[in-house]
Amino acid sequence: MEKIIAINAGSSTLKFKLFEMPEEKVISSGAVDRIGIPGSNFTIKTADGHKTKIEQPIKNHEEAVDLLLQQLLKLDIIKDYHEITGVGHRVVAGGEIFQDSALINDQVLKDIEDLKEYAPLHNPANATGIRAFKKILPDITSVAVFDTSFHGTLPEKNYLYSIPYEYYEKYGARKYGAHGTSHRYVAGQAAKLMQKPLEDLKLITLHLGAGSSITAIKDGKSFDTSMGFTPLAGITMATRSGDIDVSLVVYLMEKLNIKDPRKMLEILNEKSGLLGLSQLSPDLRDILDAADDGNHRAEVAVDILVNDIVKYIGSYATEMGGLDGIVFTAGIGENSVPIRQKVVNRLGIFNAKLDDELNQQRGERFINQADSAIKIMVIPTNEELAIAREVERFKKMED
Ligand code: ADP
Repeated sequence: MEKIIAINAGSSTLKFKLFEMPEEKVISSGAVDRIGIPGSNFTIKTADGHKTKIEQPIKNHEEAVDLLLQQLLKLDIIKDYHEITGVGHRVVAGGEIFQDSALINDQVLKDIEDLKEYAPLHNPANATGIRAFKKILPDITSVAVFDTSFHGTLPEKNYLYSIPYEYYEKYGARKYGAHGTSHRYVAGQAAKLMQKPLEDLKLITLHLGAGSSITAIKDGKSFDTSMGFTPLAGITMATRSGDIDVSLVVYLMEKLNIKDPRKMLEILNEKSGLLGLSQLSPDLRDILDAADDGNHRAEVAVDILVNDIVKYIGSYATEMGGLDGIVFTAGIGENSVPIRQKVVNRLGIFNAKLDDELNQQRGERFINQADSAIKIMVIPTNEELAIAREVERFKKMED
């Protein structure tokens, strides 16, 4: 029995989940918030649900890791630091270098930092988290798990943009996708639920959260995915526009007298999507409520979201030459009964039939009727567990 910790470090946050492996039991979880800014705090939960919150200045990620480890000892979750034998770090961008998770060494850390152009906010923060752990626990197995690496199998026809080829060669201008750890995890669970080898299935996984992406999975591999060079592409999201005609971006920059393209990107990333359309909220719950009250713009925002989802399902099923199952996951996919209903009701062409009662329930399950031509599933995503499993995989290779 060993303990493995999954880490998700942001610029001012550090979230963690500690697992007992191979039982995959969560023995603690929590987060350090507001690192380096006033109001720093740390919350930690034990397996029995007991929560502790500490408010104190936490200057940097190293202090955050220090505090986290101290509290694990103090709360008797571990007796000694050495009980933690592995750490898995979520890393947002892996570019073309990382087609798989990687054992962290100096070169890997440098590569992660060098990839910051692909994820300016995330990769440097991820690297900071890695360095903080390395300093305090230098000898444990340390693995980087990339959001992009599951999409390393995209065929050329699905990752190249129709722009001069040399931009791909010189600058890495291509589709990388995102949410790979989640898509991989739910696809694996779907195959178990369907009692079939993943390699034999054609699946579409719908990761619908604040950020949303849709992936076509064929022969057990990512075959196409809706996010692009960055997570801005694809379907409409909480605050991101999703796919858009680039000429419109230039036109708007002229109209709005915006000189800095990064300012325009900020509008497309942070002020668009459901928030931009509804002018109400980025949270789908608020928009669904407003739509129920007859707010037209909220109704249209919901229609656009559902339409975007079914457009991708239709095109991915055609691309794969068939469809065996659809998986709903993440905040919206796991929790929104009406969105699942609206989506599946549009899939008559696939003879998809929703079981309204199963749709109301919770947890990992089928939600299709017995005679539905395709399986429809809800599978809560668990990126931290997927990360811990990756660490286990690397530990086995080391042995
Ligand atoms: P992130 O992309 O940040 O990981 P999540 O996967 O946690 O986000 O999803 C968060 C989103 O899920 C919120 O923006 C909220 O709109 C949506 N959400 C959560 N619960 C529901 C629900 N019951 N109905 C509709 N939307 C929901």
